[in-house]
Amino acid sequence: MKYDEFMAIAIAEAQQGLQEGGIPIGSVLVKNNEICGRGHNKRVQDSDPVTHAEIDCLRNAGRIGSYAETTLYSTLMPCYLCAGAVVQFGIKTVIAGESQTFAGAKGFMESHGVEVIDLDLEECKQLMRDFIQQNPRLWNEDIGN
Ligand SMILES: [Zn+2]
Repeated sequence: MKYDEFMAIAIAEAQQGLQEGGIPIGSVLVKNNEICGRGHNKRVQDSDPVTHAEIDCLRNAGRIGSYAETTLYSTLMPCYLCAGAVVQFGIKTVIAGESQTFAGAKGFMESHGVEVIDLDLEECKQLMRDFIQQNPRLWNEDIGN
């Protein structure tokens, strides 16, 4: 499986979240080129402010031992909460779908030695733009504004 195929699964997770009435952000954890976890933002669905896509994904992956060989995919650049988990667990690479609708914590991760790649995908940007336009209050609550 290549790069964009993993991101395609993260996008599918985001779309599932949207269908559930949630915030369309999806994430996939890859270890040794295999998916070991996937998830999406469930803050609205579970009324849980910390169930971001990346956290849901890490939780679904369960205890996987070392994170040294892992790559975390997210449709949106991880926020400080999720970037904190990335640094804490020692995830080496983060691949984000975009960082235009939300800048996230790219610099924080990079300052801790994490390789961060921003694919700047139109599909991811459109998903967030449409959601933010239709649900400005929900989105502002999510990012703490
Ligand atoms: Zn987050």
